[in-house]
Amino acid sequence: MKTGGSEPRRTSLRPPSDPPRLASRVERPAASYRQAGLAALATTLLDLVFPALCPVCEASLGPGRRDPLCGGCWNAIARIEPPYCPTCGRPYAAFGTAAIGPSEAGRGGGSSDAGFAEHERARRPVPCGPCAAEPPAYDYARSAARYEGPLRDALHAFKFSGRRALARPLADLLLEQCGGALPGGIAAVVPVPLARDREYLRGFNQARLLADRLAGQLGAPLEPRWLARVRATHPQSDLSAAERRANVRGAFRASAAVAGRDVLVVDDVFTTGATLAECARALREAGAGWIGVLTVARVV
Ligand SMILES: [Zn+2]
Ligand SMILES: [Zn+2]
Repeated sequence: MKTGGSEPRRTSLRPPSDPPRLASRVERPAASYRQAGLAALATTLLDLVFPALCPVCEASLGPGRRDPLCGGCWNAIARIEPPYCPTCGRPYAAFGTAAIGPSEAGRGGGSSDAGFAEHERARRPVPCGPCAAEPPAYDYARSAARYEGPLRDALHAFKFSGRRALARPLADLLLEQCGGALPGGIAAVVPVPLARDREYLRGFNQARLLADRLAGQLGAPLEPRWLARVRATHPQSDLSAAERRANVRGAFRASAAVAGRDVLVVDDVFTTGATLAECARALREAGAGWIGVLTVARVV
């Protein structure tokens, strides 16, 4: 017969921390906290045994963390804020105040707030020089942050050291910075396909991991087969902008399934935009509707 002795034993199986302590330790925003549940508890328990270290700075994760990034690295990411080119998302800070002349900027008269607001309104819809000269095949491109500092290191750890767990905070960064302005009716999220030999060596396509997380958060299907590479290309890193365009010309083909559909193309880094523009061209040829491009980072 069981006696009262079984009660304390059952109690001892409970996790060592109660929910309020867990919440203050992990510090998740309310929306994701609802989904965190057992995963957060497991992370907390695991941290007690094996303290998690940030893959960028190797500090313990601490407050404000976005696993596996520590709070310090997460907060130091140089997020891209408006104003930027309405087409390609290039931050206008990179162009100084070239989008509007100083005389127009000062039209607000004595009130600097009114002047600034008018200045912002006036410059926001103006496409950047390259987009005005030759509009890209995509309708819209946005990036979450500049390709520098901790984000650059995090993307290197993600791609070249196989830290796949970084897909989650990096995709969430993209969603937090760029998700609010996305139009409704996106039919699919499509990752930029990686060259087959590079995917084989790496073991995964980083764009697909990001797109997968993004698709789940947006409630849109992931369609990795809607874009395919049809010929090999050289690595883009050592090429000039013109060489990059020539290198990827005709390298992609889109599925007939894209016809009339609005698609969101996802990649890790927007460098010159040559690869993304070529992906968009293939989608456009196959009859896609609206074509948006999202990248975690942008070379500015
Ligand atoms: Zn760190
Ligand atoms: Zn532009």
